[in-house]
Amino acid sequence: MNGGFHPGVSRKACRSYVFLRQSKDPPVPNVRAAIIPVTPFQQNCTLLWCEKTRKAAVIDPGGDLERIRDAISQSGVTVEKILLTHGHIDHAAGAAELRDELGVLIEGPHQADDFLLQHLAAQGQAYGIPARAVAPDRWLDEGDTVTVGELTLDVLHCPGHSPGSVVLVSKDERFAIVGDVLFQGSVGRVDLPGGDGKALIRSIRDKLLPLGDDIAFICGHGPMSTIGQERQTNPFLQGKELL
Ligand SMILES: [Zn+2]
Ligand SMILES: [Zn+2]
Repeated sequence: MNGGFHPGVSRKACRSYVFLRQSKDPPVPNVRAAIIPVTPFQQNCTLLWCEKTRKAAVIDPGGDLERIRDAISQSGVTVEKILLTHGHIDHAAGAAELRDELGVLIEGPHQADDFLLQHLAAQGQAYGIPARAVAPDRWLDEGDTVTVGELTLDVLHCPGHSPGSVVLVSKDERFAIVGDVLFQGSVGRVDLPGGDGKALIRSIRDKLLPLGDDIAFICGHGPMSTIGQERQTNPFLQGKELL
């Protein structure tokens, strides 16, 4: 979660983005994504799909499942899995219920966020968000890959905002799902249990910035950005901040 740390996005119907593979001529939209802001934290639950197979993943179903169901039916895609970037309530609170409903498996985050996922119900009571504890079917680690239809996403373990945060990257399609690690103009908060400011900057400096300036990313809150825009303008990534 990143409540209060970033400008929220308005609570409106899902916004769709199309990613174009740049090396093809003419461009082929291989990947599409619908972003569905959910929970009082306006978390960007993302329905990501492979346009060729129309198979999809629901990434970070934190709550407001009826809005996620609407996006799935509007898109006409088949959800084959749930992916979690990390264990915070606004990202994971609805995962167990959606898994039961759709009959799919949950992949991610890294096992270091297990303590967060086990305590989601108590967290939910504190925040007034319906929440169930969840045990993923597969933990993710650095170097793993996950698939969505015919897409392959590389897994980067990026601790700092939470110890088990992961970032998912498609090097072919030039985009990433970064959870709460990096935002347009900001970075993830590090004052929650397991947070580590130095580790967060190391994750961004050593794993995200080297991906390349042209990588577009969807983050857990607020608008999309690119690695290049953040490298050049993000105040948390300038000069001595990166040491
Ligand atoms: Zn969040
Ligand atoms: Zn978070």
